[in-house]
Amino acid sequence: MDRAPNQVVSARPLVRAGDAALAARLQRELRGEVLFDAASRGRYSTDASIYQIEPVGVVVPQTEEDARIAIQIAAELGVPILPRGGGTSQCGQTVGAALVIDNSKHLNQIISFDQAARTAVVQPGVVLDQLNAYLRPHGLWFPVDVSTSAQATLGGMAGNNSCGSRSIRYGNMVHNVRGIDALLADGAEFHFGASDQLAGAPRAYQALVARVHAIVRREAAEIEARWPRVLRRVQGYNIDMVQPGAEGAAQAHNLAHLLVGSEGTLAYTRRLHLDLAPLPRHKTLGVCHFPGFHQSMQAPQHIVKLAPTAVELVDRTMIELARGNAAFKPIVERFLKGDPDAILLVEFAGEDRDEQLAKLRQLVELMADLGFPGGVVEIADAGLQKQVWEVRKAGLNIMMSMKGDGKPVSFIEDCAVPLEHLAEYTDKLTQVFAKHGTRGTWYAHASVGTLHVRPVLNMKQDGAKQMRAIAEEACALVRSYKGAAYSGEHGDGLVRTEWIEPVIGARLTRALEEIKDVFDPRGLMNPGKIVRGTKQDDRSLFRFKPGYAAQPIDTALDWSDWNAPGEATHGFVAAVEMCNNNGHCRKFDAGTMCPSYRVTGNERDLTRGRANTLRLALSGQLGAGAFSSAAMHDAMDLCVSCKGCKRECPTGVDMAKMKIEFLYHYRKIHGISLRDRLIAWLPRYAPWAARAPALANLRDAIPGMAELGERLLGLSARRSLPKWRGDAFHRDPTLGPEAAPTAREVVLLADTFTNYFEPDNARAALAVLQAAGYRVHLARAADDGRPLCCGRTFLASGLVDEARAEARRTIAALQPHVERGLPVIGLEPSCLYTLRDEFKSMLPGAGTDALAARALLFEEFLAAEHQAGKLNLKLRALPQKKALLHGHCHQKAFGAMPAVEQVLRLIPELKVETVEASCCGMAGAFGYEAEHYDVSLKMAEASLLPALRKADADTLLVADGTSCRHQIHDGLEKGTCAGEAGREAVHVAQVLARALAAPVG
Ligand SMILES: Cc1cc2nc3c(=O)[nH]c(=O)nc-3n(C[C@H](O)[C@H](O)[C@H](O)COP(=O)(O)OP(=O)(O)OC[C@H]3O[C@@H](n4cnc5c(N)ncnc54)[C@H](O)[C@@H]3O)c2cc1C
Ligand code: SF4
Ligand code: SF4
Repeated sequence: MDRAPNQVVSARPLVRAGDAALAARLQRELRGEVLFDAASRGRYSTDASIYQIEPVGVVVPQTEEDARIAIQIAAELGVPILPRGGGTSQCGQTVGAALVIDNSKHLNQIISFDQAARTAVVQPGVVLDQLNAYLRPHGLWFPVDVSTSAQATLGGMAGNNSCGSRSIRYGNMVHNVRGIDALLADGAEFHFGASDQLAGAPRAYQALVARVHAIVRREAAEIEARWPRVLRRVQGYNIDMVQPGAEGAAQAHNLAHLLVGSEGTLAYTRRLHLDLAPLPRHKTLGVCHFPGFHQSMQAPQHIVKLAPTAVELVDRTMIELARGNAAFKPIVERFLKGDPDAILLVEFAGEDRDEQLAKLRQLVELMADLGFPGGVVEIADAGLQKQVWEVRKAGLNIMMSMKGDGKPVSFIEDCAVPLEHLAEYTDKLTQVFAKHGTRGTWYAHASVGTLHVRPVLNMKQDGAKQMRAIAEEACALVRSYKGAAYSGEHGDGLVRTEWIEPVIGARLTRALEEIKDVFDPRGLMNPGKIVRGTKQDDRSLFRFKPGYAAQPIDTALDWSDWNAPGEATHGFVAAVEMCNNNGHCRKFDAGTMCPSYRVTGNERDLTRGRANTLRLALSGQLGAGAFSSAAMHDAMDLCVSCKGCKRECPTGVDMAKMKIEFLYHYRKIHGISLRDRLIAWLPRYAPWAARAPALANLRDAIPGMAELGERLLGLSARRSLPKWRGDAFHRDPTLGPEAAPTAREVVLLADTFTNYFEPDNARAALAVLQAAGYRVHLARAADDGRPLCCGRTFLASGLVDEARAEARRTIAALQPHVERGLPVIGLEPSCLYTLRDEFKSMLPGAGTDALAARALLFEEFLAAEHQAGKLNLKLRALPQKKALLHGHCHQKAFGAMPAVEQVLRLIPELKVETVEASCCGMAGAFGYEAEHYDVSLKMAEASLLPALRKADADTLLVADGTSCRHQIHDGLEKGTCAGEAGREAVHVAQVLARALAAPVG
């Protein structure tokens, strides 16, 4: 389908009728994935902005050739094209009624690296952290250190002309890209590079360069008069940088610089040629304290004269948020003096340590000269510096977790003003916010006059009106400062394209349109961004469009925590809507979130993908019945309920809880399979199975039974099942009657898995507690004598009513102990934390809260006692001198890893190391299920099993989760390294018990 040149694309796909034909053709001709179903299109309809536009479809190219063919087919059919990386843009650059080309899954290779020349060539889907991890051993890095370094792709960074905290030293993306291999919408492919490479370039390319140069030469005077002058000027196309004699004279005609910041509107980047920088060896950090915000904004113009690498602002709101956070409070106390209104984090970096220390002293003197003697906390320690930067990042995260319909919105969040105007600009804009009944928190890049601020607006109601009013005043303010830029970091997209003209004028705006037409005369590349855009406040393009309403559902769990005070929101929907698409869940190295995405690379298998699917389904955008549809089930299927997102998602999206809610409703319609019943009801039939363990274990004893089990039940034949034991802990004849009360009493709660599959762990815990002088009560049910259960297996199948019955029974049985204030100690993380987490959602109330407050993991209890100086445990050295620890995801989610490390370190001479790994992949029953076996093992192979394989034969492997231990057993058994088969991981209680029993000497 042909369109007239320059036609603005509407919010609705233009080729709806032809979608099927387009999809069929793409499917025929591509090796990669072609996603045209409603749920997939929905998942690609948002980025980290306020907008939502459904794409025509999505292509996930497997090869560069795939991408080329997709662009060619789209061009032939006149379908707009939208290249995409991590989709973390804040301005709507990455949403549009186009064929989305997602480079992040496969086009992520580092093609070449020249250490001597300090250059690299990469595909567009390479993530910044991935590149820097590769470069680190060579003493180099790519220095555009965006906050989203763990998810931002180099293609997306180039698209947005991204900038990092240290741009004052290293510049923006445009200063670090030396060339781009790009495809135009008409299929032409060129290397865009420095002008000295022009000779010998294809004629068509030379013609294109000549046309661009003719425009910028013609506009030289206007550019000189009107173009922003600040370093952080990322509005429009970089026409100022491709003029003869422009900034960076050596590459004055480098046309790649025009593609940088073009937001996918000029060409598709196939490969990037990057300049690299040496990693500085030494860094120092000065924390400058200011009694007033205004003073903190006057100081940067002076501080930058000391040539720092970063000057970052943290205002009072953020300081208070960090102080109120238990994890960060101790760090804040280390670098904060008194009660400042704002601080500036000033970093110096370079090769010479003394030089950086001297810079720090100069900073101290400067602050004294500015009237703030003693106003600097000097930090030379690299560890503390890292923690300070983490606090700075976390403040933003906490701010983003604001509940309710009012949210901090990005639309004037990155104006860049010359430093001499910074104080006045922030004062005036704060007044503008107040005038419009809102407020904003200020933070970020004071060094370059780019401060982030997001007024709190309700985009479901009158937020659009306030947004326009504030934007108009902010734009006028920016214009009043000569050389200032309306966007200094995040670009134009849908939110700021209309604001280019007021800043640079009509003439230059027409020139940008001419540039667009030189590259893309049919207007196919990401239309509506940078030129010929829509109105910022066009609500038909919003995520929350007029009429947006989520259908309230009768939830099985309590979601009232997500209701904002005084707002009658529907908790579950509000919880789902917390996802603002920032993409933090696309991490692939540190932390846990999100294990399924880490192995599949699919947007669908991401916390964000799930939250978006839920939001679209609940608000009727995926059709009737979508909430309990197969598509919804597909999106939830690989969520292993690790709770990684509950802890690590900046806005606290708790997908594990959402999955329970979803499954509850799904089961109501679709019923429950025999396999799921077998797993869910395990705690109920366990006492019977354990009476005849030989019979119960037959499946793994008789050849062919496992295969039959897979066919009939769907339990993978490649897995052994946990072995039933005849000596269940709760039936242990040695457990005597409970003794009289003493001051050192605890309750031991043995869960179903410990009781019936690994009773030795409970015996070990009992021995340790008793050796430490505690009188141990065993948690028992008041009714039928069946052991207590947390209901986890029921929850995993969405059987909330059955789980609630177990919770009620457990709470009742433990109530007498809880009322006496006794700690309730558990061994299995997923079971114990159910008492602290899901119980509150199933049975909110004082009794549940009281139990939750007393429920502790074995290691948490011992660590707390140790810290309080109350632990009297005599341990001896073990033959093994090293323990390699794998944390259960729920231990990590609830911050219990320091406790288990601390407790292991009580053993003399034992060196403790924790494996940096996400979920082991077993995740309860997940890894036993035939259809999940491969994904499950891939999760384990991502980092856990390789790390364990490297361990010496006499290293202790410690894992507190029963399913983690099983996965380690299976994974190492199937391994090929000599000596690895047969290695088992053990519970920390077992390790401590061995240390109790170890001989002296
Ligand atoms: C919490 C948060 C913090 C942020 N912090 C920063 C920050 O510190 N500094 C900063 O600069 N930005 C920041 N951003 C914005 C964003 O993360 C960056 O701009 C990032 O570089 C975008 O990378 P991406 O892979 O997500 O790109 P995407 O959002 O996927 O794409 C960005 C643009 O590039 C285009 N594009 C992508 N791939 C190609 C290609 N192959 N060819 C042509 N065009 C392409 C897209 O069409 C789009 O216009 C932040 C965003 C969030 C949510
Ligand atoms: S789920 Fe959380 S981390 Fe992921 S995009 Fe949404 S808000 Fe960000
Ligand atoms: S619970 Fe775990 S697997 Fe599920 S979405 Fe969250 S991080 Fe991903």
